[in-house]
Amino acid sequence: MEDTIAAIATAYGEGGIGIIRVSGPDTLSVLNKIFVSRSKKIVNRRMTYGHIVDPDTNRKIDEVLCVYMKQPHTYTKEDVAEINCHGSMVSLRKTLELALKNGARLAEPGEFTKRAFLNGRLDLSQAEAVIDLIKAKTDKSFDVAMDQLSGGISAEITSIRADIMDLLVNLTVNIDYPDEDIEELTYTQMEENLLQIGDMIDKLAATADSGKIIKEGLRVSIIGKPNVGKSSLMNRLLRETRAIVTEIPGTTRDTIEELVSIGNIPLHLTDTAGIRQTENKIEQIGIEKSKQSFNDADLILFVVDSSRELSAEDWEIMDYIGSRKTIVLINKIDLAGVWTEETKALIKEKLPAAEILETSMTERTGIHQLEEAIQDMVYSGSVKQNDSLLVTNVRHKDLLDQASGFIKDALAMTRMREAMDFIEVDVKSAYEALGEIIGETVSDDIINEVFSRFCLGK
Ligand code: GDP
Repeated sequence: MEDTIAAIATAYGEGGIGIIRVSGPDTLSVLNKIFVSRSKKIVNRRMTYGHIVDPDTNRKIDEVLCVYMKQPHTYTKEDVAEINCHGSMVSLRKTLELALKNGARLAEPGEFTKRAFLNGRLDLSQAEAVIDLIKAKTDKSFDVAMDQLSGGISAEITSIRADIMDLLVNLTVNIDYPDEDIEELTYTQMEENLLQIGDMIDKLAATADSGKIIKEGLRVSIIGKPNVGKSSLMNRLLRETRAIVTEIPGTTRDTIEELVSIGNIPLHLTDTAGIRQTENKIEQIGIEKSKQSFNDADLILFVVDSSRELSAEDWEIMDYIGSRKTIVLINKIDLAGVWTEETKALIKEKLPAAEILETSMTERTGIHQLEEAIQDMVYSGSVKQNDSLLVTNVRHKDLLDQASGFIKDALAMTRMREAMDFIEVDVKSAYEALGEIIGETVSDDIINEVFSRFCLGK
């Protein structure tokens, strides 16, 4: 028998209302002790006006709206209550204390969602989507999490697993009732099936790169010598695109990080202070930070000034960039430039993989092309922007890769006509790895690990 848990479910701080959530078999009994209303009897699923009253002192703690929801059609599949208090931490803390004194215990982080999972209302990938939903910062990452919560990933995994199960059944029949005639047929058929299954797994795994970027954002480092237009570029992007957050905590004068959203892709933009050698201690700290952000970047925007000759400093920066993913912005094309086609060719030769765009920050040329180039980069390959079935979870990606590895091993053995018992072991392992994604074959350790990422009251 589970106990009854309670926690503050809304964010800490001041708000119009704040909610205490209670879940478990004693929910109604807790409410009956601390909630007093004129209607006396608490009715299932009816929002009721009343007061939270300390039963020991008869003191009114807060004026509230309270709803009681009888199991099983609730978030946790248990009896649940939500008490809408005034959104002051004092009221919330006192109401929670009363609930704890009268039959509930404090919930652990993620425990409500963990119960939803353990009671079979959500599978593991759906429970993980709840964290992503709560933490989503852009429309797209919210959509992707919503799709996962609705069972998008689960349905795909379940369907691949069903195919693997068919294969396992075939294998078992062959192992148990060997028959020379149908054996060769089985191997041929299995090869085909394993190829198909491996392909489906790999396709899903391939969405993980885009998925990760949509969830966590793309780290972009802006680099270039002084006065080429780096801050102008940063400001331009902030103004033209919807800035979601400005001034991330921990920002220093040396590296400024901003978060903007381009075509639903969150970009963490860092304007690097420069990476040149210097004797100055303070400057050195700034340079270390710039180097760090440069090294961590998924994409580098290298800005050069077309009104000045390409200098030794530009070459030095290009050496530093090496083979990193880069877009070169030839800026200030509105000015009478000194650049010729040869100058561009030199850059192209030095950075062959880089994309080169001409821009003017003052006249806003090339910004749109830059946004498109970034989007093309993120949504490259098989992933289309409208696809919401994206793998955004590292745990899922690792398991998909594992499953793919097992299928590949099984395929190699099938081609070598190895004993079916051996092949069966790998196919089973693939089946189990995929099962871990939706939580069908997971250990308690993994479950605890997943839910420890939640915050209180979720
Ligand atoms: P940073 O040192 O690389 O960050 O360069 P800034 O963004 O501070 O720009 C240096 C100077 O160049 C400023 O006076 C900008 O107004 C100017 N500037 C930046 N981009 C352009 C451009 O595309 N065209 C022109 N004409 N001036 C620009």
